[in-house]
Amino acid sequence: MTDADALDAADPLAGFRDRFAPTEPGLIYLDGNSLGRLPLATAERLARAVTEEWGGGLIRSWESWIDLPSQVGDAIAAGVVEADPGEILVADSTTVNLYKLAAAALDARPDRRVIVTDDDNFPTDLYVLQGLAAARGLEIRTVRTGIDDGPDPATIAEALDGGVALVSLSHVAYRSGAIADMAAVTAAAHHAGALTLWDLSHSAGSVPVPLRSSGADLAVGCTYKDLNAGPGGPAYLYVRRELQESLRQPIWGWFGQSGQFAMEGTYTPVRGIGSFAAGTPPILGLYAAQEGVRLIAEAGIDRIRAKGMALTSYLIGLADEHLAPLGFRLASPRPADRRGAHVTLQHPAAWQVCRALIERAKVLPDFRTPDRVRLGLAPLTTSFAEVREAVDRLATLVAAGDHLGYPSAPGRVT
Ligand SMILES: *Cc1c(COP(=O)(O)O)cnc(C)c1O
Repeated sequence: MTDADALDAADPLAGFRDRFAPTEPGLIYLDGNSLGRLPLATAERLARAVTEEWGGGLIRSWESWIDLPSQVGDAIAAGVVEADPGEILVADSTTVNLYKLAAAALDARPDRRVIVTDDDNFPTDLYVLQGLAAARGLEIRTVRTGIDDGPDPATIAEALDGGVALVSLSHVAYRSGAIADMAAVTAAAHHAGALTLWDLSHSAGSVPVPLRSSGADLAVGCTYKDLNAGPGGPAYLYVRRELQESLRQPIWGWFGQSGQFAMEGTYTPVRGIGSFAAGTPPILGLYAAQEGVRLIAEAGIDRIRAKGMALTSYLIGLADEHLAPLGFRLASPRPADRRGAHVTLQHPAAWQVCRALIERAKVLPDFRTPDRVRLGLAPLTTSFAEVREAVDRLATLVAAGDHLGYPSAPGRVT
């Protein structure tokens, strides 16, 4: 028995692998943090929803569909992140939710002119903030962050003053996997009188998310990554309960209207998290999110976190031994408690290495700029044996120079 087999044998979450649609033989999927795998229950649930609820029930099915956005939001609050019922709603995309919540926060601080973020934040977050700043004539104060380390709370705190309306950051950095100190940043932001908006896309479902205990104000995130809701799965938004009455989002749609089907001509939003809805929710995506969230809740975020740390530590140990001599360098935090469930390696030929891994070695990683190979270790679906085998294949391929035959410039989707 190898050390990987022993780790798999002792893994309390090992059984969850069988709850997902099998991959083709020999494929090692290290991209569950970009597009999570398909749970078997989801395939069944969607088939039933399509044939029975849509095909058979037709418009009558809206009776049960209408509450799904808040029901799935409550399930995320109960089993995925630290939040209370009525604080999370599933709606729209992460990008659109960022816009809605950032705009609401800026409107709540009309005499302040500055948005603080960092240069390692996810591009869509930066673009949304830039768009809002351009439309309102605001300043964006972009803190410099080491791309391997995540934002430093002390550096963020130095950027804060009485002119800052909003601090918007990712909780787990998309490239390095570094975890930001949500409590420290939130405390500093509140001290300066600013609101905080967190992007949880790479943290929900892989690490504990201390929204309540850190006092975070607002958050958004994807369901199609570690929550396994499938391509284009709807996003969620979190608004701390005490803020729900005072914040108003900018998209005044009929799904946020009180007495929606009275078809009144004037917008009067419902009270609570429902006022952050806009238009018709994607029902099939909501069912997929519901099944994905159910699996995460059943596994338990503490066990998921423990396995995520064990998997990434195991990978880093193997990389030190077998990949460092081939020119790879760890580009994620080394202490396990500072990183989420993915590990990034820097290599000068990272793009070619990724192509060769995908096309010759049947290992699916992500390339990330400028020269990074990102390996996502999904705690519910990745085994220790797969980690070991992936490192073996990677080392063999690079030692033989197999990657050198691939073009060195990235394609359109990386
Ligand atoms: C994946 C990801 C997104 C994606 O946003 P969409 O609107 O779903 O395209 C946003 N933010 C972060 C941090 C992400 O990792």
